[in-house]
Amino acid sequence: MSHTIDITKYVALRHEIHKHPELKYEETQTAHLVAITLRDLGYEVTQGVGKTGVIGLLDTGRPGPCIAFRSDMDALPIHELNALPYKSTVDGKMHACGHDGHTASLLCAAEALMQNKAHYKGKIKLIFQPAEEGGAGAKAMIDDGVLENPHVDMIFGYHNRPGFEQGYVFAKPGSAMGGDTSIEIIIKGKGGHAAMPHLARDPIAAAAMFINNVQAAVARQLSPLASGVVTVSSIQAGSRKGINVIPNDCSLTLSIRSDSLATRDLLVAAAEDALKAACLTGACDYEFNLLLDIPALINDAQATDTALNAFKQHMPNQLIEKIDYMPTLGAEDFSFYLQKIPGCYFFIGNGLNTAYLHNPHYDFNDALIPLAKDCYLSLAASLLS
Ligand SMILES: [Zn+2]
Ligand SMILES: [Zn+2]
Repeated sequence: MSHTIDITKYVALRHEIHKHPELKYEETQTAHLVAITLRDLGYEVTQGVGKTGVIGLLDTGRPGPCIAFRSDMDALPIHELNALPYKSTVDGKMHACGHDGHTASLLCAAEALMQNKAHYKGKIKLIFQPAEEGGAGAKAMIDDGVLENPHVDMIFGYHNRPGFEQGYVFAKPGSAMGGDTSIEIIIKGKGGHAAMPHLARDPIAAAAMFINNVQAAVARQLSPLASGVVTVSSIQAGSRKGINVIPNDCSLTLSIRSDSLATRDLLVAAAEDALKAACLTGACDYEFNLLLDIPALINDAQATDTALNAFKQHMPNQLIEKIDYMPTLGAEDFSFYLQKIPGCYFFIGNGLNTAYLHNPHYDFNDALIPLAKDCYLSLAASLLS
């Protein structure tokens, strides 16, 4: 694992990316920066994968497995409230999830991996994906063939986690993060006079019944030992000016979070049943449309052990733990890769007192750059030596 890396170069690069945040599928400048950095290091670079994604390939020329390391590149539509010298220069856009740091740390690892090329066999594929934040960028890259030519045997990636000690590395085998299913509902009634509901079909009354009944699905149909939640995140109908009007329709959005595909299927079916029942009572029709479906993130048990053992062997001074609880029902589209091939998505503590993810005061902790680099190097040393 010997290498000489100037970490300050990658801290500066992180700050540069932080200054110029780009939203999902618009990461052209970030992708350009990633591509030129990888090319300078000697990687074979492919751009425009999954729209704005970048792949860097290191081929040792010796037979062996192909392992992939993945970072995300997109920022969020949040206005930054930090007073940092490298604060976002774009109003309303900010790297509030640390994808700037994930990108910088994988580029830092890229340099170290290239320096160690002579010690490895097989191939290393570095994946810089777009649109992790609700854009299913991982799926877009898979659809564009990121896991083939050469075929990837195992994949790894990490997310920083505020609220955990800086540098604490942890992973959970099996269900590790939630599934995120977004649904749009339109309840179609029949507009009419507020004083003559019997001549209309009131979609707001049906929506109210649905909202109450859908929570019963979580309370009475889901096992208390499973984790899932249904949130009605928006509702729109009528207008404040039409106080004496029953509107034609009512639209709602649902965010369903789940710890497994079975929980997701149960809650989606239960939500549609509750809607059907409410619409039957209210004599309304409905549409039930799936907008986005990020599956629950299921780590491969063996790949998780492989990763944690590699970290323990090569980073003896670090606090490294296998956990047995799901730290969040938040979603992460790394799950799409794990549906195709084995791998492990692990976490690194961003510090106990740093602002939480997606908060306007959040900032990635630069101390994680060399640490994440060492995690990736440990994996390469264990799997490709
Ligand atoms: Zn995020
Ligand atoms: Zn994130």
